[in-house]
Amino acid sequence: MRRKLNCLAAWKASELTLKETFHGIVEESWTRCRLWFESHAARPIIVRLPADELVRRRLQSYAVIQALRNQIKAIASTMDGLFGAVLFADAEGWLLDAHGDTATLSALSRLGITEGSCILERYIGGTALGSAYSSNTAITFESSHHYLVGMRQWSSAGVPIFSRETNERLGVLGLLLKKTRMVPTVIPLLQAISTALSQVVDVDRDKQMMAQIYRSLLSHIGAHVIHVGSTAEREILHEHHPTPLSPSLREEMANITREGVRPRTEVRLHGKPYIAQVEELTGMNGEPFGHLGTFRDMTREETLEQQLINAEHQSALTTLAAGIAHEIRNPLTTARGFLQLFETRIQSQRDKEFLHLTIDELDRVTKLVNDFMGLARPDHSKRTIVDLTEVVRSSNQLISAEAALSGVRFITAIDDEVYVWGDENQLKQVILNVVQNALQACDGADESVTVRLMAQEATVSLSIEDTGNGMTKEQLERVYEPFFTTKSTGTGMGMVVTKRIVTDLGGSIDIASTEGQGTTVTILLKRAQPSERLDDAQ
Ligand code: ADP
Ligand code: MG
Repeated sequence: MRRKLNCLAAWKASELTLKETFHGIVEESWTRCRLWFESHAARPIIVRLPADELVRRRLQSYAVIQALRNQIKAIASTMDGLFGAVLFADAEGWLLDAHGDTATLSALSRLGITEGSCILERYIGGTALGSAYSSNTAITFESSHHYLVGMRQWSSAGVPIFSRETNERLGVLGLLLKKTRMVPTVIPLLQAISTALSQVVDVDRDKQMMAQIYRSLLSHIGAHVIHVGSTAEREILHEHHPTPLSPSLREEMANITREGVRPRTEVRLHGKPYIAQVEELTGMNGEPFGHLGTFRDMTREETLEQQLINAEHQSALTTLAAGIAHEIRNPLTTARGFLQLFETRIQSQRDKEFLHLTIDELDRVTKLVNDFMGLARPDHSKRTIVDLTEVVRSSNQLISAEAALSGVRFITAIDDEVYVWGDENQLKQVILNVVQNALQACDGADESVTVRLMAQEATVSLSIEDTGNGMTKEQLERVYEPFFTTKSTGTGMGMVVTKRIVTDLGGSIDIASTEGQGTTVTILLKRAQPSERLDDAQ
């Protein structure tokens, strides 16, 4: 935003007598101004920062401005009523802060010099502030040294501020006195303030750097952090949350922090596991700064741990299945054979009943062992291209009789010539397990079980849908858990084995179930081409 100065008549140079210490600098300033205003621009103009940019720059220099304001009282008190205003312009010459006597500030404002305007000589003519900026030295201007006539009611002093760490110019500090002669002690005073301010800037820079490191560390550890004060209210002073938090959970964390020091402990908040730790914060002399609580969400770790336990569980079962089941099955078959043989020889009806009971029990054990057997790691060398269409059809033959007995409609829709890689017996077991579950879920009349086999481009989908009693959410969650069964004669191993076989073949299994409405089990397998059979034989 540009605005023409309204005191044009006033800036025309008048003759000057320069007797003071800063002759050289003031003279140079005049030379520059004459050159600039008389041959380049027709008149001085005021250049101003857009409002939002002014706000941004003031925030950036917040520490300096704040420190400067704290010093103003001290400055004013040494000036015996002569104090007009203190001005701070940033490294590019933008006036960010003007503070002081109201009459002085409004006189400045009438000249167009307010927060946000540029103090460089080429815009407002020579002042101590602008000259300190362009000459990089401390300087005072008295009355007629100022290029603008409107400024000649004051004397002014300007001191550049440098960073002690990086030596770069941070800005300039200016002082206006309400008299035309300068007080000799002003320059040392301003220089002392400038040194203090540069320290403030360096400390502020360190503070900002620490804050940045702190923020980056915080986001890295991903924990909720709460700092409560040491006063009676123990209010929350700072906090950091990697994820949004409900107000009640935040309050719970704050309360744990308020309870005081606590070593790393597990706590459960709102049903989720956290590792909590509370430390006391103290200053260098041991003064209390309150307490710092950190809360790390351990849900992921807990899930992983549970998965590990499950995996161990599974692998123990696998070993058991591989090692023992086989040994049990053989003698069972022999025992059952002999028992059947005895059946013909036994006369007593009571004994016959006992014998049937025994055989039934043996069958139950055999069934369990057979289910177990499926858990053993399949022998990869037994894998061939299997005609799944054939396997599904032959399994269906077995099952349709069972379905007819229980009055369940058995519907099939089977694509021809669908091939997959696998072990025929295992695939048969998968179909029997799933279809039997479907039949067992149907009890009332007018129920149906539908088996669909469809081949797509690269996958084969086998779905078994029933209109049976379905599963509750909890049952659905536990369906692959070993020994989970809701049936009086169930083993709870059918789905465990099914999933194992399917995933070993690189396939997937998905169950959709609604309690009281039915269940659909969808198995996806990789499709094979019969021509691959040749490679297999080689
Ligand atoms: P089992 O049949 O011996 O009980 P499974 O592992 O085959 O063992 O099945 C485990 C449990 O999953 C069953 O007891 C039953 O509660 C549930 N389930 C499996 N399939 C179905 C289905 N199609 N409809 C309803 N519940 C089912
Ligand atoms: Mg079953």
